[in-house]
Amino acid sequence: MNKMSIRKRFAVTVRGFGILKKYCPGLVQGKALYESINSLQPFVTVWISARIINELSAQQRIKNIVGYVVGIVLINFVCAVLKNSINRVCNEKETQMWNWFGKIFSDKQMSLDFEDLENAKIQHQKQEVEENLYMFGNGLAQLVWGTSGLVRASMNILTSLTMIATLFLSKSGNTSIDNPIWSIIILLCIVLGGLSNSKATVKENKVFMKWCKDTVWFNRTFMFFGRELYMNPEKAKDVRIYKQNTIAAKALDKLIERDKENQADIFKMSISPAIACVIIGLANTVCYLFVAIKAFFGAFGVGSVVQYIAVLQRLGDGLQELMFILSDNEVYCIHLQKLFDYLDIPNHMYQGSLTIEKRDDNEYYVEFHNVSFRYPNTDHDVLKRVNIKFKVGEKLAVVGMNGSGKTTFIKLLCRLYDPTEGEILLNGVDIRKYNYDEYRSIFSMVFQDFQLFSFSLGQNVAASVNYDANRVKTCLEKAGFGNRLKEMPQGLDTCLYKDFEENGVEISGGEAQNIALARALYKNSPFIVLDEPTAALDPIAEAEVYSNFNKIVGDKTAIYISHRLSSCRFCDEIAVFDNGQIVQQGSHDELVADENGKYHELWYAQAQYYTEKS
Ligand code: ADP
Repeated sequence: MNKMSIRKRFAVTVRGFGILKKYCPGLVQGKALYESINSLQPFVTVWISARIINELSAQQRIKNIVGYVVGIVLINFVCAVLKNSINRVCNEKETQMWNWFGKIFSDKQMSLDFEDLENAKIQHQKQEVEENLYMFGNGLAQLVWGTSGLVRASMNILTSLTMIATLFLSKSGNTSIDNPIWSIIILLCIVLGGLSNSKATVKENKVFMKWCKDTVWFNRTFMFFGRELYMNPEKAKDVRIYKQNTIAAKALDKLIERDKENQADIFKMSISPAIACVIIGLANTVCYLFVAIKAFFGAFGVGSVVQYIAVLQRLGDGLQELMFILSDNEVYCIHLQKLFDYLDIPNHMYQGSLTIEKRDDNEYYVEFHNVSFRYPNTDHDVLKRVNIKFKVGEKLAVVGMNGSGKTTFIKLLCRLYDPTEGEILLNGVDIRKYNYDEYRSIFSMVFQDFQLFSFSLGQNVAASVNYDANRVKTCLEKAGFGNRLKEMPQGLDTCLYKDFEENGVEISGGEAQNIALARALYKNSPFIVLDEPTAALDPIAEAEVYSNFNKIVGDKTAIYISHRLSSCRFCDEIAVFDNGQIVQQGSHDELVADENGKYHELWYAQAQYYTEKS
């Protein structure tokens, strides 16, 4: 466990509170208020009880006794009402807290550079922080719980010290008992009790941190064995045919090995608290004896004995809790720091500020100028000196074998990545200089692995909570979803999938594809790109979808991507990708006529699939 300086811990804790204030407003404050009342209440009760006993054992003034009794009842009543209401609010907020934590991660994920979403190291970093938080409360939740403990401990210590002062100040008449050295001995005993527990906590924390480091590994193993390997029917065939369960059993040995190590750690952990218990017991005995002897020599009445014993107990508890909180703080600061390391991952992509002129004539020219690209942490270019210019309103096809760089080309076009070399220009200006959100808004994409979400059909198409229902319907009809729409139980309000709605509708792959096409149409951007959303279809069906879609895109610049040449032959211009380069460009007839070209080779290699259509 890396040591963190007190100063750093303080700064980290303060930043943690800042995040809680932003994402979970009122939670920490509510908990602190609840604990303040909860900690003060017993002291008031003990103090008044001591007065009642003193009164009963000495002057027995009825008026005073009644006053104390009424006071105690009233105070407890008010405290109970306050505590109850605050507790209800806090419990509700604490249940919500986990959802709010989710928002912290989603906000950061959304703001990360796209390449960082594919960066395994960064995503592992996020997973470790997130799983530790959700499994153990490590970091932010510990800070919330620790706040309650800190307030409780501080209140206990401060109030106890105030109420215990008279134990040392009152005189018994016996010089050895009244010697101030006893005050020091008693306080030392209490501190010793607190410290002994903190040693145990430090040991526990060390073992706990070791477990926490393994969280991601443990979860992955658990999910793999528990869910994937044995419970996923799709994998069952391979598991049985290739007897994968024997390899799996070997890997499970590792889990058992870890379990043995954990057992040894648990045994070690249980020794320290036991020793701490003995020390605390001895320290308490010395304190109680001191109170009893002082009362025996007449320093105070029986009521005060009750008060001092109760308060000494609370002081000891308070100190032990404070020590616990301080060593716990060390642990959660390490987790908080890990969270901050993730939240502080900077954006490297240049964020330009130029606005994009809104043009009704859609006169947007995009040009790739000597663009090369290499994925982060890889050693070769997947795009090499690509040069291409899109003409406004043109239907461009991008074809080539799988892995030739077509999708990467599109990722660069919509600026999910920046080129490693060269530049992409929009109306003559490097796209990095434009405002990123505005630049993205001129593209509608339908990716191969497009995603729909568990929102209503209308919201899925419009990608917005509020939408123009007529326009959504028109887009769905154009995209071939018209008949299915009529069957939807609540029309556009029908929820897709069942994650949030019991009555949600499950849709087929083809239907999902139509909705995704409608979403691209609804966005009404000047550029529209279809990156093989039809890969699951056979070549003839894909060709039909592409050419039907082409009829409805109107005057937009459309880019069709496919590894199947037949799907794109209707396009004005076809760019042939091979090994990251554009090796040919032209119309279908021109390209197929070039017998030495890649297009000719691919066309005839694939011809068997669509000879009836060609
Ligand atoms: P296509 O769309 O033509 O099938 P891609 O553009 O998807 O080709 O892939 C081009 C090359 O880039 C392939 O060799 C692929 O393995 C590699 N590649 C794609 N995505 C990544 C990535 N995120 N990280 C590293 N390499 C990638």
